[in-house]
Amino acid sequence: DRSAPVFARALAFGDRIALVDQHGSHTYKDLYCHSLRLSREVCQLLARPSGDLQEERVSFLCSNDVSYVVAQWASWMSGGVAVPLYRKHPQAELEYVIRDSRSAAVLAGQEHVELLGPVARRLGVPLLPLPPTVYGAAAEVPGEWGVPERDWRDRGAMIIYTSGTTGRPKGVLSTHHNVRAMVTGLVHKWAWTKDDVILHVLPLHHMHGVVNKLLCPLWVGATCVMLPEFKAELVSRAGLQARLVTGTPTSHGVWKQGCLRCACRLMVSGSAALPVPVLEKWQRVTGHTLLERYGMTEIGMALSNPLTGARVPGSVGTPLPGVEVRIVSENPKKDRCPYMLHADGNEMETRVTPGLAEKEGELLVRGPSVFREYWDKPEETRNAFTPDGWFRTGDTAVFKDGTYWIRGRTSVDIIKSGGYKVSALEVERLLMAHPSIADVAVIGVPDMTWGQRVAAVVALQEGHALSHRELKEWARGVLAPYAVPSELLLVEEVPRNQMGKVNKRDLVRRFYPSEPG
Ligand code: ATP
Ligand code: MG
Repeated sequence: DRSAPVFARALAFGDRIALVDQHGSHTYKDLYCHSLRLSREVCQLLARPSGDLQEERVSFLCSNDVSYVVAQWASWMSGGVAVPLYRKHPQAELEYVIRDSRSAAVLAGQEHVELLGPVARRLGVPLLPLPPTVYGAAAEVPGEWGVPERDWRDRGAMIIYTSGTTGRPKGVLSTHHNVRAMVTGLVHKWAWTKDDVILHVLPLHHMHGVVNKLLCPLWVGATCVMLPEFKAELVSRAGLQARLVTGTPTSHGVWKQGCLRCACRLMVSGSAALPVPVLEKWQRVTGHTLLERYGMTEIGMALSNPLTGARVPGSVGTPLPGVEVRIVSENPKKDRCPYMLHADGNEMETRVTPGLAEKEGELLVRGPSVFREYWDKPEETRNAFTPDGWFRTGDTAVFKDGTYWIRGRTSVDIIKSGGYKVSALEVERLLMAHPSIADVAVIGVPDMTWGQRVAAVVALQEGHALSHRELKEWARGVLAPYAVPSELLLVEEVPRNQMGKVNKRDLVRRFYPSEPG
């Protein structure tokens, strides 16, 4: 049944191990039964006699363990929209999400009840602690335990907040159909099977952690090994059994365990641009070539390097099954045929308009994984789509050599300096190869003559020193003259969020406080 929600697949996998966490192993049936029971409690708590929350929002705060899945599925089974909270967010952020989503109830894992209690009271939202039984095996649910009957397809499934890299995080509402499309596209492209074991050490309030690392394995009957936190010795121990590992460029920078060489069949990087030197270092340490992919909260994953065949360092590959991609240049009137089209479909056929293969412009995406709306923001939702229904990603991309390259966010990563357009991501990639540079963010700063000029915010390798003159001399060997940083700003650490992203507006403001953002 193509309109069934993703959790319905669990019914087929019964006693297989779905999840391994700090509490033990959990079968698909455990997950299903606990969730169904909890969904009934939620409906009771909210006194919805129909047993259908009709897209009311249910927020939940859980650790990276079985309780997260139970809370998510219970929200779905009760007909609600799942809104995951992040345990490392300060109270004010938790409050923002609960209030902004207008959640009808908040669920909390045992260890978070104390933190959420005062927040829920302040907002007047009922708080339901998860029963301690969810951490163990589930007793059979009495009575019927099939998939609850609902109009699943276009019903809202979850609101995930964007990373807030360019502003206040926006709630992205995806339907069950969207989530299903995100999962099936990835399952197909990366050839997931029930024998896969994935290591999960990322936050569970972003697409990467929720879809790529959790819902994909659960869709095929595989096993997800969830670690409570990122600790080197936990990672290397659990890594021994993992067949898939996905992470962010930052996490790949800190993992040094050669033992990840073992059983792995695939290692993926995403959420931010992967500098080629990090990819090369990873290759040396583990023997694996990271597969880079590109995605967004609004669309799930859209582009991915191939599973088999050459992965092109620095590029993000081609569209996932079902995803249509198009690049529009700033001035479409100049083009007779202003875009390239990748055909939808399982055979992954690629059609490229001849002669336009290297055109750079905004990346647009269309397809069943594209979200329904920015929650409570009809105006933003309207503006995010072209009149003919393409989603504007706000990222600049180029298609060349048979693969897509992300040049960065049009608003902050494309630096306009004296008529030239410089991709901050590309400059970062090249500078990362400098032996003294541990991390770098390239920003465009105001310039009287050129409009903007390129500045490099650099954290040095321990014990190293670097002058601007040295950097410039070195950079002239690898960069066009207009892309050579005209300013070197040294920092202890490049400020990145937990997904490895840099808020560049904040960074510019830090060094140029008087400039309007
Ligand atoms: P906000 O929309 O609130 O400013 P955000 O866009 O960072 O935050 P996400 O949806 O988590 O929130 O991130 C999507 C963005 O991440 C993409 O638009 C793109 O700029 C960046 N991104 C993801 N994968 C890659 C990649 N492989 N290479 C370069 N950029 C990437
Ligand atoms: Mg965004």
